[in-house]
Amino acid sequence: MTDRIIPLLDERVAAIRPALPAETQAASGRVADRLGRHLHDLRISVTDRCNFRCTYCMPKEVFDKNYRFLPHADLLTFEEIARLARLFIEHGVEKIRLTGGEPLLRKDLEKLIEMLATLTTRAGRPLDLTLTTNGSILARKAKSLAAAGLKRVTVSLDALDDAIFRRMNDVDFPVRDVLAGIDAADAAGLAPIKINMVVKRGVNDHEILPMARHFKGSGHILRFIEFMDVGSSNGWHMDDVVPSAEVIRRIDAEMPVEAIDPNYPGEVAERWRYRDGSGEIGVISSVTQAFCRDCTRARLSTEGRLYLCLFAQRGYDLRALVRGGASDAQISTAIGQIWSQRADRYSEIRSEATVALPKIEMSYIGG
Ligand code: SAM
Ligand code: SF4
Ligand code: SF4
Repeated sequence: MTDRIIPLLDERVAAIRPALPAETQAASGRVADRLGRHLHDLRISVTDRCNFRCTYCMPKEVFDKNYRFLPHADLLTFEEIARLARLFIEHGVEKIRLTGGEPLLRKDLEKLIEMLATLTTRAGRPLDLTLTTNGSILARKAKSLAAAGLKRVTVSLDALDDAIFRRMNDVDFPVRDVLAGIDAADAAGLAPIKINMVVKRGVNDHEILPMARHFKGSGHILRFIEFMDVGSSNGWHMDDVVPSAEVIRRIDAEMPVEAIDPNYPGEVAERWRYRDGSGEIGVISSVTQAFCRDCTRARLSTEGRLYLCLFAQRGYDLRALVRGGASDAQISTAIGQIWSQRADRYSEIRSEATVALPKIEMSYIGG
């Protein structure tokens, strides 16, 4: 194996090791950060591996056979994940999304879902438990995921045109199998299903209308995501971004839409519905319309590092606390302290200088 220097590894080494709190403090359930944002969502990456090589996320030139994925011993175990999830819930988390890499590649994921499905919010309600997948093995897994207690899924699909989709996932994976996964998820009751399409100008923007036509009336919610400068390997450039306003204009010209209210404050997607009543779409405008003001999301990486922003350069090593014998009260106190110091708002301050900074890869902390 050749030893190459990959920026990602350097970033992973640079985690912050939280001190063991000398005094503990009970979680209030409403921990606020320095901008007054309350912790509400937790995204948990269960693997850094993926069977796709989407050009905007895990380009083949970087994630090749020499790339060193995390060894199994470094991954949080299901018990460790469930314990941390419970402690995050004490701080007010009500929604958990499993992600990756490709989460369905994590062996026995259903067992983790069973464990998480037993947790309830502080108010005693069931958690909003969901998962984002590339859909490649969803047809096989939908039933067992639903049986384990998963509520819904989000499936990523960037094109309906088979040739374009195969080029974008860069492993020659056919559209047909992802569509079969979506149908299986629907049949298993993992609804409403959201479909995420990352739009890159000149690559798949001519698929916006075919995708909209296909999912209109299906009950699934298609969401268009602006191509982001996550990580350091995807060669991002502003010219590649199709602003959400343009996406909406193009759809509205053929299939009239109107804006609707968010489901809850801090919802990432801006919601629109077809005026003829045939369903809903969404746009996620992380580049052209930053929504940092309402960002209530924390991210837990595969190896147990807490990231306060998708574009953070460093994470907090919670695994060190977990494996170092810290008590629940100590870990909970540390989580509260870390969140209350948070001031991240990358999308609001994005500039040429920030784009060039080294950042964590999306496949490592999840979307
Ligand atoms: N593998 C799963 C999947 O593709 O759904 C889950 C992980 S993936 C990192 C989560 C989401 O991030 C996907 O919807 C993906 O399209 C999106 N994503 C990845 N890289 C992106 C980028 N550079 N800009 C915008 N979205 C991106
Ligand atoms: Fe894999 Fe998802 Fe990244 Fe595509 S977007 S390479 S499917 S992790
Ligand atoms: Fe949240 Fe960071 Fe995204 Fe802003 S840039 S919305 S703070 S994750």
